[in-house]
Amino acid sequence: MKQANLKDYSRTYQEFDWSRETAAISGLPEGKGLNIAYEAVDRHAEGPLKDVLAIRLVRKDHSYQDLTYGDLKKRTAQFANVLRRLGIEEGEKVFSLLGRVPELYITALGSLKFKAVYCPLFSVFGPEPIFQRLSKGEGAVLVTNAQFYIKKVRDLLDRLPALKYILLTDVEDDLDDKALSFSKLMKKASEEFTVPPTGEEDPALLHFTSGTTGMPKGAIHVHKAVLTHYITGKYVLDFQPGDVFWCTADPGWVTGTSYGIISPLVNGVTSIVDEEEFDAMRWYGILEKEKVNIWYTAPTAIRRLMRMSFVPKEKFDLSALRLVLSVGEPLHAEAVVWGEAAYGVPILDNWWQTETGGIMIANFPSLKVKPGSMGKPLPGVEVGIADVDGEELVLLTDPEAQGHLVLKSGFPSIFRGYLHEEERYQKCFKGDWYLSGDLAKKDADGYFWFVGRADDIIKTSGHMVGPFEVESNLMRHPAVAEAAVIGKPEPSIGELVKAFVVLKEGHVPNEDLELDLIGYARKVMGPAVAPKEIQFVDSLPKTKSGKILRRLLKARELGLPEGDLSTLEKN
Ligand code: ATP
Ligand code: MG
Repeated sequence: MKQANLKDYSRTYQEFDWSRETAAISGLPEGKGLNIAYEAVDRHAEGPLKDVLAIRLVRKDHSYQDLTYGDLKKRTAQFANVLRRLGIEEGEKVFSLLGRVPELYITALGSLKFKAVYCPLFSVFGPEPIFQRLSKGEGAVLVTNAQFYIKKVRDLLDRLPALKYILLTDVEDDLDDKALSFSKLMKKASEEFTVPPTGEEDPALLHFTSGTTGMPKGAIHVHKAVLTHYITGKYVLDFQPGDVFWCTADPGWVTGTSYGIISPLVNGVTSIVDEEEFDAMRWYGILEKEKVNIWYTAPTAIRRLMRMSFVPKEKFDLSALRLVLSVGEPLHAEAVVWGEAAYGVPILDNWWQTETGGIMIANFPSLKVKPGSMGKPLPGVEVGIADVDGEELVLLTDPEAQGHLVLKSGFPSIFRGYLHEEERYQKCFKGDWYLSGDLAKKDADGYFWFVGRADDIIKTSGHMVGPFEVESNLMRHPAVAEAAVIGKPEPSIGELVKAFVVLKEGHVPNEDLELDLIGYARKVMGPAVAPKEIQFVDSLPKTKSGKILRRLLKARELGLPEGDLSTLEKN
């Protein structure tokens, strides 16, 4: 068993100093600044990792497309030269609308090298969500394929005056003078490119949020964020030489960039990329065959895997697996415990957001896991529970006090703005503190527990009820596969707790089961918190990144406008 990089959490946390820890980051040669792509690729390609696999892409038919650190340096240099040749300027935005193909990784890292700002789009988006983001972000270049271009983008061009070029990854020849062949341009481009001087505060990434609570926001990140990618890779994901890592997040979201691309490369390990979407048997097959050591996934996938009837570690050889981690939504205690039996290791939950650019609270491999808790703060980041309603922010020190989850700003990867929404950005801060919009508790041992999004919190008979707690408890009932809880206005008590429940296979929705569930909930949660209404549904509305859209359940329940649905997953 390998020893974790973080051996003594408390000591490391107390002594942590960003500048000391990040001495392992090279910086650009001759003191010319700090550039994410240089740290992720070039410095390794110029050293002993040159021939080591950086990215192994597993194609649909299980064949491989492999890129070593050396290959990646050349391909990203070519892409940076393509941007130069097209007359793109530093700071302009390059968008991608691609599945998991090599061109996506080359575009992301090549753009960063060039000092363009990279913005990924989720490839499943239809024309309107693509238009909203491209126009708001003033995209100058879009890298996509011919099918997406023709079906989803071409008709938008009149409304996108800032868009200069569309580079198509799967055509040999240019379609016209705007829609060009990616490969033709790459072939002509030199494999040498010197990263220009890059300031730590130069913008690098634009990430749109998931739109769970409303209209997606465009969070801007700078090159300095690479320090967080490095440290979280070292301490949370525990990257060690020779490790094989698999992040299942779609590259259209922040996790797919921070951990699907940057963090493993900065730490010099090998990343597995699966071209296909979720498929339980395929996933287990990949874990086995590629001998994945560290696997980073999300509750939505874990809940689906939990429904399978076999014990994964008995059917597949998962002996290489050292760590399984989860992010994106609360991970129920049930899932953590299930992971232990299913994989031989617990599933380590961690918390962060698009705005924080990297993992902020985590169950570290060397710390005792408390199932249901998000864990402890990343060394170098101060996290608190606060009352933010008054003029001044008041930190709550009582263990178990519930309040707003706040982070002391100043860590490298905190977002530097919401694109074109300065006022909204300013509202996220009170003094030095960043208000995350989530509610949480901190226990006497310093572990943080997620309560809910501030917008989702239910006020019933004078109590504040977090939907996560109710949902977790409902999921302990043997018939329940998934649950989502909302507050429904009810004059006498403020709001009534209503649960939407998806049943496990083999269970039929009927009145008896409803009464049984209500009785069970009252027994385990108490009548004040237990749902008073239960509605059985076939599925829950979710964002395309798999998060439950409680605001949509509520709007539908109350007959209110449904709001922005650009990130809604269509069933
Ligand atoms: P929007 O801000 O547009 O409403 P979003 O907040 O879902 O969308 P993201 O930045 O992708 O967009 O998600 C971050 C949020 O996801 C967190 O603020 C939190 O509510 C939730 N989240 C992430 N990880 C966890 C976790 N481990 N436990 C509980 N909640 C989590
Ligand atoms: Mg958010």
